[in-house]
Amino acid sequence: MMNIVVVGGGHAAAQLSASLTEKALQAKVTLVSDEAQLPYHRPPLSKAYLKDAEPAAAWLRSADFYADHGAEWRLSTRVARIERDSRHIDLARGESLPYDRLVLATGARARTLPGLPEGLDNVHTLRTLDDAARLRGRLQAVERVLIIGGGFIGLEIAATAAQMGKQVTVLEAAPRLLARSASPEVSDHLLASHRAAGVDVRLDAVIEGYDIRAGSVVAVETADGSVRADLVVVGIGAVPNDELAREAGLACDNGIVVDVHMVTSDPAILAVGDCTAFPFAPLGRRIRLESVQNANDQARCAAQTLAGMAEPYSALPWFWSEQGPLRIQIAGVPEPHHERVVRGDPAQGGFSVMHFLDGALTCVESINAPADHMAARKLIADACRVPSDAASDPSIPLKSFA
Ligand SMILES: Cc1cc2nc3c(=O)[nH]c(=O)nc-3n(C[C@H](O)[C@H](O)[C@H](O)COP(=O)(O)OP(=O)(O)OC[C@H]3O[C@@H](n4cnc5c(N)ncnc54)[C@H](O)[C@@H]3O)c2cc1C
Repeated sequence: MMNIVVVGGGHAAAQLSASLTEKALQAKVTLVSDEAQLPYHRPPLSKAYLKDAEPAAAWLRSADFYADHGAEWRLSTRVARIERDSRHIDLARGESLPYDRLVLATGARARTLPGLPEGLDNVHTLRTLDDAARLRGRLQAVERVLIIGGGFIGLEIAATAAQMGKQVTVLEAAPRLLARSASPEVSDHLLASHRAAGVDVRLDAVIEGYDIRAGSVVAVETADGSVRADLVVVGIGAVPNDELAREAGLACDNGIVVDVHMVTSDPAILAVGDCTAFPFAPLGRRIRLESVQNANDQARCAAQTLAGMAEPYSALPWFWSEQGPLRIQIAGVPEPHHERVVRGDPAQGGFSVMHFLDGALTCVESINAPADHMAARKLIADACRVPSDAASDPSIPLKSFA
């Protein structure tokens, strides 16, 4: 019987466990996670979980599901090392586990802010359920919330805190929100929406220092003045947890390098989810994504590989975010040099930005336009030709291009 060991306890590990059972593979599956809980939905942590009266973790699968399928969990257990020659992993608490195939599903962690001392009482990052419980506990009691970073998680927390009646400031270093992951049209719409909800969004913000008293940040000094804060959230992106792979000598380049079958530079080791840098054919280069879709679909792909039925990974990336009244959906990967047309009227609240390269639809970003989004996503997945001028005309149904 094949001995499969999975490192990680997030979306990718849970999906891999489920997909392996579907393959009816004769395998012993052991999953090792340094978190104390079984895998749970991470997206609500920056949204409903922070403000709901009675928040509850939403488990991805029940404990019975894993037990019924013979998957064994080692929780609160950190993996310290991979010994590739003898094919085993060392756990931080001293034990070793042998493997025939190892899958790294180690995800990513919140980036910390250089120059800000660690361990400050009122400074938060958000990645895990424990982080969310700590943030939630503090958020209820404070007045002024300062968010450093205008990325997805920072903006979701800003919207949630504003809905809770907090005085919210967002400091973003770039000249626009989501500068690396969304088009200028989407950035502009989000900026206007957050400001209309009372969030003080400051672009081009240059942080010059911190006023720290009794172990807490009481103000952040910027080139444009001081911003007082009762609570600070650092939301400046995530870094891949690729140290285990790196120390074991696996190829890494902003994530663990995998091929189209999720196999690393060691054929006995696979990697899936936020921790991977994988070949993305539409752009002709490796990319790393942080999304539930990518974690789930890469886990399905890895299960195929482990079952000896390898199929190349070619899923269309998609992602969603909820920020107050806005539901943002993105399919494909926005590239700054692609042609863009806007479908719908941003002033009316719902619209899509459609991206084209050499006449082919490559990406669609939608705000409160779910029907157009799903239709466009299918057009991209099916590689349908869509004339960009016609696509911008909302009177022509997108389905007519299928
Ligand atoms: C607050 C928040 C909101 C989000 N909202 C959205 C959203 O709206 N839409 C969306 O598509 N995506 C969202 N995401 C992103 C999404 O949650 C991630 O893309 C997804 O969790 C990736 O799954 P993963 O299994 O690759 O990594 P993770 O879920 O991060 O799991 C990695 C696991 O590995 C464990 N681990 C790491 N190293 C070790 C080790 N050495 N030993 C043992 N265990 C280890 C970690 O503790 C963790 O349990 C959000 C993320 C966060 C944090």
